Amino acid sequence: MKVAIIGAGISGLTAAQGLMARGVDVKVFEKSRGVGGRLATKRLEWGNVDIGAQYFTARDQRFQTRVAQWQEDKVAARWHFQPHSLSAAGLIPSPDSTLRYVGTPNMNSLAQALARGVEIDFNTRIDALHASANGWTLVTADGRAGKQHFDWVVLTLPAEQSAALLAGTAIEQQIPTQVHEPCWALAVATRGDVPADIQGIFGDDVVSWVSRLSARPQRQASEHYDDLWLLHFSGDWSTINGKDTGVDIAQAGLGWLAQALQMPAAKPLQAVYHYKHYWRYARLKDDTTTASIIADRSAGIAAIGAWSAGGRVEGAYLSGLDFVDYFFA
Ligand SMILES: Cc1cc2nc3c(=O)[nH]c(=O)nc-3n(C[C@H](O)[C@H](O)[C@H](O)COP(=O)(O)OP(=O)(O)OC[C@H]3O[C@@H](n4cnc5c(N)ncnc54)[C@H](O)[C@@H]3O)c2cc1C
Repeated sequence: MKVAIIGAGISGLTAAQGLMARGVDVKVFEKSRGVGGRLATKRLEWGNVDIGAQYFTARDQRFQTRVAQWQEDKVAARWHFQPHSLSAAGLIPSPDSTLRYVGTPNMNSLAQALARGVEIDFNTRIDALHASANGWTLVTADGRAGKQHFDWVVLTLPAEQSAALLAGTAIEQQIPTQVHEPCWALAVATRGDVPADIQGIFGDDVVSWVSRLSARPQRQASEHYDDLWLLHFSGDWSTINGKDTGVDIAQAGLGWLAQALQMPAAKPLQAVYHYKHYWRYARLKDDTTTASIIADRSAGIAAIGAWSAGGRVEGAYLSGLDFVDYFFA
């Protein structure tokens, strides 16, 4: 039995590991040059920056078991801090009992751990699927059909992207459309004296979340800046100010951050470096959405991903596990 998995994010890698553990021949195809998908760590000259998921939670027992193992393997750790919220009076502590975890040293470390032993074709974007009597063949971005035949193809892309590849298949109509919202991510390295207890901020309808990346477990200090921040602009703001916006994202983000932190005029927050990234399909608009497994066993095709299991990193992991259960049922 040969299975092709499209996408080396958490859902694809979890499915790959689960199938391989039970003797299935698996090959993963990934359009980018590394694993992780939206669990993305951008390696910049001035530091490694997590530009996708900032932390994760573990509510399901199966994921909690995996997270405990990751902690033992030193690729994940608890991020102990009390978030702040932006109010009319400025930043106020926002007590909650949520246990937050991060990948160590980077969020992407989780994906790298899951990728061990998995055969992955990087820089390989799949643009079409062909069904024949011998199974599925995959057509890459250069228009070439691969020579290998697969009994199953498992798509793990955001639903909107999977839908395009599934045109003409039996499950085409079952894929939800327009479930994700976009997100501008801005990393800013700054000089300035910010109180140590401000590590994560629930923002407003412009910037929805801020991480102080430089305060997370196992981050190395830099001589070039005091702090490294990551801002996620809200879904609504990022929809209005799309990929081609004329708005200066760096200016907008730095201004927002300086105002939120209420830096004294004599000692303003100074940006040293910045990096921005637009996520077209970032998070679910409604993370209670669950579609369960969308698959056609007779054709050997399935579409999974975080979107099919409540979103987030946890949903991605669970969708991979659920597919393995379905496959062997
Ligand atoms: C800005 C942002 C903030 C987030 N914040 C959080 C958070 O704080 N906590 C949390 O738990 N979750 C958060 N998430 C969500 C979380 O990151 C995702 O739900 C999860 O990582 C998705 O995993 P996945 O495997 O389902 O999909 P992806 O990670 O999207 O994996 C899909 C993979 O498929 C590849 N691919 C796409 N098209 C093709 C193609 N045609 N051919 C080959 N490969 C292809 C992609 O490159 C990618 O590697 C956030 C996401 C973003 C973007």
